[in-house]
Amino acid sequence: MPSSTVSYTAQNGTREPGLMHRSLLERPHQVVSGSGIYLTLADGSRIIDGCGGAAVAVIGHGNKEVKEAIIQQYSDVAYVHTMTYTTSSAEELANELTELSKPFGLTKAFFVCSGSEAMDATMKLARQYHFENGQLQRTKFVSRRQAYHGGTIGAMSVSSNLPRKIPYEGALLLDNVSYVSPAYAYHGQKDNETEDQYAARLVQELDDEFQRQGPETVIAFVAETVGGATAACITPPRGYFAGVRKVCDKYGILLILDEVMCGSGRMGTYFAFEPEGDVRPDLLTLGKGLGGGYAPIAGILISQRVVDVLAKGSASFVHGQTYQAHPAGCAAALAVQRVLKREDLVAKCHTKGAFLEKRLRSALGDAKYVGEIRGRGFFWGIEYVQDRASKRPFKPEVKFHKRIHAAAHDRGLAIYPGAGTIDGINGDHSILAPPLTATEEELEEMVRLLKEAYDAVEEELGSTMK
Ligand code: PMP
Repeated sequence: MPSSTVSYTAQNGTREPGLMHRSLLERPHQVVSGSGIYLTLADGSRIIDGCGGAAVAVIGHGNKEVKEAIIQQYSDVAYVHTMTYTTSSAEELANELTELSKPFGLTKAFFVCSGSEAMDATMKLARQYHFENGQLQRTKFVSRRQAYHGGTIGAMSVSSNLPRKIPYEGALLLDNVSYVSPAYAYHGQKDNETEDQYAARLVQELDDEFQRQGPETVIAFVAETVGGATAACITPPRGYFAGVRKVCDKYGILLILDEVMCGSGRMGTYFAFEPEGDVRPDLLTLGKGLGGGYAPIAGILISQRVVDVLAKGSASFVHGQTYQAHPAGCAAALAVQRVLKREDLVAKCHTKGAFLEKRLRSALGDAKYVGEIRGRGFFWGIEYVQDRASKRPFKPEVKFHKRIHAAAHDRGLAIYPGAGTIDGINGDHSILAPPLTATEEELEEMVRLLKEAYDAVEEELGSTMK
């Protein structure tokens, strides 16, 4: 491992226990300020935030307009309970979002504080939809073997990120979840299969799983529109989600799309599902980029079909969390939406994303250990494999993703690292998810630093990799 490993060795070279609020083992760098795409560390060094934290800082750091909006909200009122009250920040945020989502049938918004809570709440909403419809036998969820939906009990139960799950399996997690294959062409599409055939096979597998479970017992199918944390930026094959929607409709099963990581404009459209054809989710989660990191906020967008059933049911939505729709979170997210809109950042992300793709492919496309570069907009994943021809991943002990992460950080670039977790087939990866405000020059610099980091790791591994 490099001597100046990012978060695993203390500044004085000794291994210290990490800060309790983060981890018992790791010691993160202390950040003292942020501005635009840059973070400044306590030792004075400047880091380009090439991943916006974890695809969070959608308009960059230190935006004064957002800061003012939060201060204004605190001056007006810091807190109200949603049982009785709302605020203009919450209402206007809901209006902004549903204006974008109404064409896709999503007409109501509900705000919580994190993506995990948003997932738990959608799972409850989905069950309540069937409950109000008298379909009490619907008790199961179907998810995918390449999914991260959060760290709370419900969200983790529909996730398949094994390292994060294993200690709790059989003790805390729900056992009414089954899994189908991810839409992961790099590892899943057969050589003799077209993209359409691959999508059709996956949809058939989902249909078969519904049949196996008894379709009348399934509440919902849960999927990230574009896979994030467990396998970097896996975009689905053409026609996949349209097919999924049809199969769900065939059995009255709800479709929950998780866009906590890939949504909020990061992929060049506000919702990542927009280019996927005729796909109208029943429930959709947003998080991370929604508040751009300025406050903890996440959201759920709910289809009119679900709203109608809940409205005629026994209660509205039996989900009361003290800090839901927190005024400061809503004010922050509203201000972020206004910046995105005024500066036309989502459309620009689409165009600049093509530039970023070109640069990434020319820098790393032919590199020895780069298996695939994939993504869209400002959400790019690089999967590393030991052998390109067979797509064989590195052994976990190589910790390739951590090496790249550390080498990039040493050179002043933050990227989001991840390791393969599915059936032992996929490799380590990095995610590049810069603020949508990044200029072409800044994107170019990120790619240059990433390439330097990659070259250093390739050299460091040298002939030890057989
Ligand atoms: N869903 C997805 C797709 C995510 O990537 C994440 C976070 N990585 C979550 C849900 C959970 O969000 P949070 O960490 O805000 O609870």
